Amino acid sequence: MHIVVIGAGLAGVTAAWSLREAGHTVSVVERREAAGLETSFANGGQISVSHPEPWANPGAPLLLLRWLGRRDAPLLFRFPAEAARIRWGLSFLRECFPGRTRRNTRAIANLATYSARKLRELRRTLDLHYDESNRGILHLYFTPGELRHGRQQQRLLQRHGIGARMLDIDECIAIEPSLAQLRGRLRGAMLGVEDESGDAYVFTQALAQRAAAAGVQFHFGCKAERLVVSGKRIGAVDIIDAGGRTGAVSGDAFVITAGSYSGALVAPLGEKLPIYPVKGYSATLNLRRPERVPQTSITDESRRIVCSRLGNQLRVAGTAELNGFDLSLDPLRCQALLDWTEEMFPGACDLSNPHFWAGLRPTTPSNLPLVGRSRISNLFYNTGHGTLGWTLACGTAQALADIVNGRPPEPEFPFLRNGN
Ligand SMILES: Cc1cc2nc3c(=O)[nH]c(=O)nc-3n(C[C@H](O)[C@H](O)[C@H](O)COP(=O)(O)OP(=O)(O)OC[C@H]3O[C@@H](n4cnc5c(N)ncnc54)[C@H](O)[C@@H]3O)c2cc1C
Repeated sequence: MHIVVIGAGLAGVTAAWSLREAGHTVSVVERREAAGLETSFANGGQISVSHPEPWANPGAPLLLLRWLGRRDAPLLFRFPAEAARIRWGLSFLRECFPGRTRRNTRAIANLATYSARKLRELRRTLDLHYDESNRGILHLYFTPGELRHGRQQQRLLQRHGIGARMLDIDECIAIEPSLAQLRGRLRGAMLGVEDESGDAYVFTQALAQRAAAAGVQFHFGCKAERLVVSGKRIGAVDIIDAGGRTGAVSGDAFVITAGSYSGALVAPLGEKLPIYPVKGYSATLNLRRPERVPQTSITDESRRIVCSRLGNQLRVAGTAELNGFDLSLDPLRCQALLDWTEEMFPGACDLSNPHFWAGLRPTTPSNLPLVGRSRISNLFYNTGHGTLGWTLACGTAQALADIVNGRPPEPEFPFLRNGN
């Protein structure tokens, strides 16, 4: 089959690769001039198998209330809100019921474990390098309440077969000496032993190059304008390039991997995707004192900030803002990332020349990505990866290729069948 993939971020490039491996002819339509330039560009870098619990959990409503109106809140719901945001917010609240959270956590745990294995296989087979590290992720706890929650998380991970170890402060500092100056404040930590980190953009670019060499045709600088229906199927996608020239790419099947913009592409077909763009920030910093910068990726559970060492830089990322498709940088939120870095690792990074960035996580209320067949038989989705698009990319791509080829995907997960 000739399959047209729309969008060349993590989801699109991994899907293109897996579909090509599964024996298809693949074309990719991407409006930007290269792969990985939108949400996959400067994320937190974490392959976070040890964080399957979605944002929508029983503790979330109370936290959201506490954060309401705080401009520096880790999760900020800006007002006034348009209808789509209110609808999404109500669905989010429904996903906070314990039964829903348990179901969603189990699904993400299955998919994340599978995806991390697929990433390792791909890295080995293709000899890919992207400042990867397999030292795990250290989750830091600064209050007795957080530590209690951490212990519960570790038991939950064990139930899902995910390796995680509680660490006392000495053990934590032995693993990551750059945390020594936090000795007086830290209450404990958990090490997600199966976790990894690495530069998602470098990975996306490297895989896109391999895919192109293997015959995948990339149409960069071409925006998908409209999916053209022919009978009960999609026959082509109308495109327009930067110079305003129009054209069409036809195919036997189409895969939507357009991140936060996926919904707009399929809305004219009557398809409603529950995806909202949740904005996050990152700062990429050069190192001043490399020995003071952690080698292990870190999650600060208190402040909801993560950091990953990417070669000779530190990537610090966090915050979630529901404010439509706005990508402007709020100076307060940028400064918060620098303040956190200096407080955690004093003097370690050059704060005079930070590279700030914001991206829109394509987020479903449950944080479960939409992967599988839509109501239209030759239209597929691989989108809505939310907070875990790097973690889940290789697994969802393989699962999608299996679904397209009529094989049941390996992990137990609610994949879409005819849109449901
Ligand atoms: C601050 C931050 C930190 C994060 N940290 C982590 C982390 O540590 N670990 C983790 O697992 N995940 C993390 N994420 C989430 C992860 O980055 C995303 O889930 C992932 O990048 C989404 O990939 P995507 O391919 O779906 O979307 P994108 O990367 O946005 O790709 C979509 C592509 O579609 C293209 N496109 C859109 N519309 C059209 C159109 N009409 N025609 C043609 N092309 C189109 C876009 O140009 C874009 O290239 C983080 C996200 C943010 C914002």
